[in-house]
Amino acid sequence: MCTVGGAHDVEMEEDRVKGKDYRCRDCNATFKAVGKHPICPTCQSENLTEA
Ligand SMILES: [Zn+2]
Repeated sequence: MCTVGGAHDVEMEEDRVKGKDYRCRDCNATFKAVGKHPICPTCQSENLTEA
């Protein structure tokens, strides 16, 4: 019949880019980062809070 093979694996890719939202307590910037020790992209501070 008409088999156009290939499933829609959109969810796989979405699972790779999971980041958390953080807010910098020094400059108040909000950003998304991955990893256990994120730093502020604006002022390089580690003084962050999870948003
Ligand atoms: Zn900052």
